[in-house]
Order: sequence, then C-alpha cells, then structure tokens
Amino acid sequence: MHALRAQFPVLAQSIHGQPLAYLDNGATTQTPLAVQQALQQFEQRDRANIHRGVHTLSQRATDAFEAARGVLKRFVGAGREHELVFTSGTTEALNIVAQGLWAAGPGKAWLRAGDRIIVSGLEHHANLIPWQQAARMTGAELVILQPDAQGRVHVQDLQALLTPATRVFAITAGANATGERPPYEEMLQLARAAGALTVLDAAQAVGHGMPALATLDCDYMAFSGHKMYGPMGTGALVGRRQALQLLYPLRLGGDMVEWVSYEDAGFAQLPARLEGGTPNVGGAVGLAAAAQFIDSVGRSAIDQHLHALRARAVAGLSAIDGITVLAPHATQAALVSFVARDVHPHDIGTLLDERGIAVRTGHHCAEPLHNHFGLGPTTRASFALYNTAEEVDRLIAAVAHAVKVFQ
Ligand code: PLP
Repeated sequence: MHALRAQFPVLAQSIHGQPLAYLDNGATTQTPLAVQQALQQFEQRDRANIHRGVHTLSQRATDAFEAARGVLKRFVGAGREHELVFTSGTTEALNIVAQGLWAAGPGKAWLRAGDRIIVSGLEHHANLIPWQQAARMTGAELVILQPDAQGRVHVQDLQALLTPATRVFAITAGANATGERPPYEEMLQLARAAGALTVLDAAQAVGHGMPALATLDCDYMAFSGHKMYGPMGTGALVGRRQALQLLYPLRLGGDMVEWVSYEDAGFAQLPARLEGGTPNVGGAVGLAAAAQFIDSVGRSAIDQHLHALRARAVAGLSAIDGITVLAPHATQAALVSFVARDVHPHDIGTLLDERGIAVRTGHHCAEPLHNHFGLGPTTRASFALYNTAEEVDRLIAAVAHAVKVFQ
C-alpha cells in the first residue's frame, strides 16, 4: 500500500513543519492521480451537456456518463433488477428516497398515517432527519432501533419492533461515529420479509468490505464519491427498479420528463425520472475512475490494511491513561473514536494539527448517538489505503502528549 502514496500528491506536504498525516478519511478521502486525470480529460476534451445534443461533444459526454453508470453498477454488485441514479452524495440519495415515499401525497404515497418507520440509532443525521420529516408529513410513527450500551444493535430487538404496519427500515452499513458494523444483512432480510422497504446507508462501507448489492435484501442503497477516493459532490442511489419506481421525483424540471404541457407533465423512465436537471457529468466520470482505482488495488487488500491500522490505533490509544475508545469491539472498522478524561476534543484536534495530524472532532453528525452514550463530542481518526503504521504511531504519541499537557 505504501507505494500507492505517490498516487496522492496532496499527501506530500508539510503542515506546521511536519509531514501531513491525513486521518480524516471518514469525512473525505483524497483523490488519486487516476481520478484527477479522468476529471481533467473530461474538462479538456468532452465537456458538454448530456442527453440533449446531437453534436459530438454532447454525445461523447453522454457516452462517458452512461459508461460511468455501468462501471458503478458493477462496482456495487448490482443485479439486473437494479438501477443507479446519480446524486450529489449520500445525503441527496437518502432525501430522494424519504421524500419520494411521501411527496405524492395522501392516497398515492407509499407512506401513510399509522405506518411504522424503523431507523437504527446508529445513524448519521442524513439517515435520520429525512425520516423524521417523512413521519411528520404523513402521520407515520418513527421508531428507533436502540443500540446497547456498547453501541451495538441486535437482530432480536429489530424483530420485536417489526409489525405489519412497518413500511420502511433504514440502517447504516457502518456507523461513522463509532465504526460499528451492524448485522445489516440479516436485518434487511427480516425487514423485507415483514413487508418493509429497506434502505442501506453505505457511505462508510462502499469503498471497502461490502457484499454485492444483489446478495442483499436491500431496496435502496446510498453512497458518496468523496468517501471512496472520488470527487466531491458525487454519489449515487442504487435501488431495485420496482422500489425506485415508487418514488415521487424530488427534482422536477428538465431531463426527467417525457412530455410537458402548461398544466401537467409525464415523468420519464428510470433513471432519468430521478435525475432532473444537469448532473455533475465530469464528477460521475471521476467517480467511475475511483471505483476502477479501488478495484485495481483490491478491496480485500484495502480492508486488511484498514483493519490492521485500526487495531494498532485501538491498542495504542487504549493504553493511554484517561483515554476511552468507543466500540473497541468493532474490528472491521476503518476508524476509531475516543474521548479523553477532562480534555476537550477540540483541544486535542488543535494540538494534533500542530503536529501535522488531521483528525475530526465533534459529534460527527450523529448527535443522538452521542447523547445515548451520555457523551459530548469525540475525536475521530479514520483511515484510508494510503495511511501507514507510522502515522498511527504519531497519532498515539500526539494524543498521549495532549493528555499530559491538558489534564
Ligand atoms: N452517512 C454516513 C454514514 C456518513 O458518514 C456521511 C458523511 O459523513 C453521510 C451519510 C453523508 O454523506 P454526504 O455528506 O457525502 O452526503
């Protein structure tokens, strides 16, 4: 993996006189040259609007966009029953699903008063707030699958919550605040068997260990490009065609209609139906290049590397007096979150930055989960394929120093 660092020019810089150790990959990963070159080639050769032009550049851009769709469908292991809709990221994808299930209005929408929506208590706000709103708009009941004191969610707890009224079950494939990997395969299966539509937030998982989508009982899966070595402002919603068809389109306008009169409009077939307006065409091309880059390295090799870095970080940080690591049992995680007795995470983050180490501090957009733990903000270090054991050791040494300075 170390040789691959040369593919990421941004890493070869100093911050405050120290070599950059970029450990904020759960928020955003860096892009390799292959992605940067794909973006540049699109901008320099093929840039034009898609689907609406007969000229050569428009056709080239359309071909590149549709080829990227094919690459990404293969990357996530989509089956024949699946379609991929380009979005600006996970947040937009989840909003397209949640709003799409109520926006058609009473009598037409999937969600109705009295229905049950179950959402796990591990979720990023992007997979919670749209469901709060869906419940509010329809009169459905929002029920949380509560984590235990260690931040695990259990299949039998979900079983107890599933009722004939359950119409939606939404869960993450990897909790961004703790690294917890829930048993989502079994949970999706149970929820779907109970008649619910199932939603998987794959933002923290799609770049590494995830089963092929076709093997999951998943109706909708969302992910972001910028967390898998791809461009910012890119991502996708991949779903079963039948489930996508249920969604009232969130983005109404150009490119998503078959006919329009002053009074009415007929929506296009999928995927155009859910892709109103001009998409980020270059971004889609760059995102496909990121998927190809990941596959060229190999997802199991990446996983092994990330898990080893996480294990090293957990061992080193846990050994520091005053540090508590969240979810130390989550061995398949690519991140580690921790709190220091009597030291504010922002102080730790600032001291680490002075040593060239980039980590994230705060609630990581999962405030209810932090409240569940009875915790305030935490510090999170998150790893990518280009990180090294030496960077992890620098992190551990710097945290030990911070604890001494501030306690
Ligand atoms: N879901 C999870 C688990 C995340 O970690 C994130 C981002 O941190 C999101 C959703 C939101 O992703 P985006 O901001 O790319 O839409």
